[in-house]
Amino acid sequence: NHAPLFAEARGDIAVSFEFFPPKTDTMAETLWRSIETLAPLNPRFVSVTYGAGGSTRERTHATVERIVKETDLTPAAHLTCVGATRDEIDAVAKDYWDVGVRHIVALRGDPPEVGQAYRPHPGGYANAAELVAGLKAVAPFEISVAAYPEVHPDSDCPESDLDNLLRKIDAGADRAITQFFFSADCFLRFRDRVAAIRPGIEIVPGILPVTNVATTRRFAGQCGAAIPDWLDRLFEGLDELPAARQLVAATIAGELCGQLYAGGVRHFHFYTLNRAELAYAICHLLGVRA
Ligand code: FAD
Repeated sequence: NHAPLFAEARGDIAVSFEFFPPKTDTMAETLWRSIETLAPLNPRFVSVTYGAGGSTRERTHATVERIVKETDLTPAAHLTCVGATRDEIDAVAKDYWDVGVRHIVALRGDPPEVGQAYRPHPGGYANAAELVAGLKAVAPFEISVAAYPEVHPDSDCPESDLDNLLRKIDAGADRAITQFFFSADCFLRFRDRVAAIRPGIEIVPGILPVTNVATTRRFAGQCGAAIPDWLDRLFEGLDELPAARQLVAATIAGELCGQLYAGGVRHFHFYTLNRAELAYAICHLLGVRA
């Protein structure tokens, strides 16, 4: 049987898309064009990240609010514990609730300097589990949290990382979205381990279509995701050929999604980096159509 893995997909797939708040007018134009392109695929939600150290608090809020006002999409606002007291974070969450946002992606965030140990802000939430509990006390938000199939770098072992995820679920999280990864087996094993302990909790794979391995490797070092050697090989010699890189990226991510689909996955979360083409193409392969 030479049919591609995703040829079995039958319109039973849900997707969500992640964006970051734009810094400039040009970046804003790119983002809004991407949102317009992806909106007809009817995503379950679209999420907007929160810059390191809370640096994009206003821009994240403005982007989420514009999605509420100008589209029919369901927004999810990312929020971290970094650099703010509990009261300040609760106030941000309350503002979201007041403008109609019902879904928060609750995260701890990273220390301001790479390589340093994480230190909670005095009077702040110490970790994502505490943040989830705090948000639930503000309003009955739907809450997504982060999960790490390849284990978060701050964890001493997979068991303690899993315990941390369970604490977030027990605090009220509705689903976990994973860090990106390149091994379907690794994700499926992780999903099954969680399901054996907390059946019914959705573990949604975070899919990063990679077009530039060097950039991805720099980023992956900080977040507990391994970059396999074969990824380097597949992009060798393509530095000056962006169109070829796009095709390779779509093929790799499409195949990963096909393997996940075969393993029973029916919700895919795409790290779009504010570009629509790759996510759109992969959704199309998966049978997600306008
Ligand atoms: P936590 O779940 O709090 O855990 C972090 C680590 O600390 C884990 O290893 C955990 O095991 C350990 N830990 C926590 N509490 C305890 C405890 N009580 N005892 C022992 N160990 C403990 N970052 C941003 O800045 N902005 C974003 O918008 C953003 N979006 C993201 C979206 C997704 C889907 C993902 C996967 C990550 C995102 N991140 C974002 C990155 C995230 O902030 C970092 O990975 C951060 O280092 C950990 O956040 P967390 O919410 O997973 O932390």
